[in-house]
Amino acid sequence: MDGVPTPLRCFNEYHSAEMLVDDGVETVTSVEQKKVERSIKEVVSVYKQMHSLPQPTLLREQHYQYLKKGLRHLSDAYECLDASRPWLCFWILHSLELLEEPIPTAVASDVCQFLSRCQSPTGGFSGGPGQHAHLAPTYAAVNALCIIGTEESYNIIDRKKLLDFLLSVKQPNGSFVMHVGGEVDVRSAYCAASVATLTNILTPKLFEDTATWILSCQNWEGGLSGVPGLEAHGGYTFCGTAALVILGKEHMLDLKALLRWVVSRQMRFEGGFQGRSNKLVDGCYSFWQAGLLPLLHRALFKEGESELSRQHWMFEQQALQEYILLCCQNPGGGLVDKPGKSRDFYHTCYCLSGLSIAQHFGNMDLHHEMILGEEENRLAPTHPVYNICPEKVSKALQHFHQLPLPRQPGPLAPDHLES
Ligand SMILES: [Zn+2]
Repeated sequence: MDGVPTPLRCFNEYHSAEMLVDDGVETVTSVEQKKVERSIKEVVSVYKQMHSLPQPTLLREQHYQYLKKGLRHLSDAYECLDASRPWLCFWILHSLELLEEPIPTAVASDVCQFLSRCQSPTGGFSGGPGQHAHLAPTYAAVNALCIIGTEESYNIIDRKKLLDFLLSVKQPNGSFVMHVGGEVDVRSAYCAASVATLTNILTPKLFEDTATWILSCQNWEGGLSGVPGLEAHGGYTFCGTAALVILGKEHMLDLKALLRWVVSRQMRFEGGFQGRSNKLVDGCYSFWQAGLLPLLHRALFKEGESELSRQHWMFEQQALQEYILLCCQNPGGGLVDKPGKSRDFYHTCYCLSGLSIAQHFGNMDLHHEMILGEEENRLAPTHPVYNICPEKVSKALQHFHQLPLPRQPGPLAPDHLES
């Protein structure tokens, strides 16, 4: 940005022209959409009155205090997340690493001990001590342990049993159930592929037919649904695409239809993303949707689409940063879905992850930053496949790749599994 402050998009007159026109036909959806647009217009006008020099600021210190407190104490509002406790560890630790706040050694060790109590005797992690193993908290626990990235944290993961657990939830058609006796959806394929890669237990047998199954989730809209035949959705689309990237099969998607779908999910007026067509903007899709762009950019580039921009992702990075910084920050710390909603650790994690994606373009060789506001707003980059910092991904891969693939019973000797 060469030291020249970028004018805020909301200071330009075209902003109002981007608001919804319902052609005189009101529906529940159009009424809700207009309500959200009005609330955002209000936020912007209050901001304009208060700041002569528009520089939206990341409330770093407030977010840090909110996150730090969450590691030790949760209000009773979190009772409903009793089966998602490793998620709270991941959301908080990842937010802290994006803010480049170190995790005190004692806290890291306590988190390790807690997560080890969530590890099931049959492999995988559960939502809390004594519960059944489930793929979602397994993904969250492995990510949290990789963020901590110490010998202690790596050693907690029982890789042999983790592989047993993954095999126990694998279905004959290539899909995975979330837990034994549970539902199938595309999140499970991503969670399984992510933990299997990070801990080096990925075997061809484990993901046989998985890519074909995921591909059948891409529908006429261009995005992916949770299971074949349903509506395209940001969270499922991210999970399916990231899983295909891990399996090296992303080129089998209709990449251009996917690109068209995801860029159309960025809201013209709000600047943030919606999760599905005709839904409202929501801060968490800043990651689930915008996080698809780095994956797509790389996939299209590999396919020889060299006319793609070499300077930025294929969405309005600045508009997304504006939405997050102006509309999603709770003044007391923590981030939210949209103005008027209350803060939580899930939205804090995914708003910050999306902000990081919008600020950084490229990899180590080609790195271009587009930071709205002061340099103080800069977050650490995040890995678009695993959503932990790239150094932590390399460190985990390095650690687990020194270890042999766990031995499997039956005719599939490990020697035959290494590809
Ligand atoms: Zn949300």
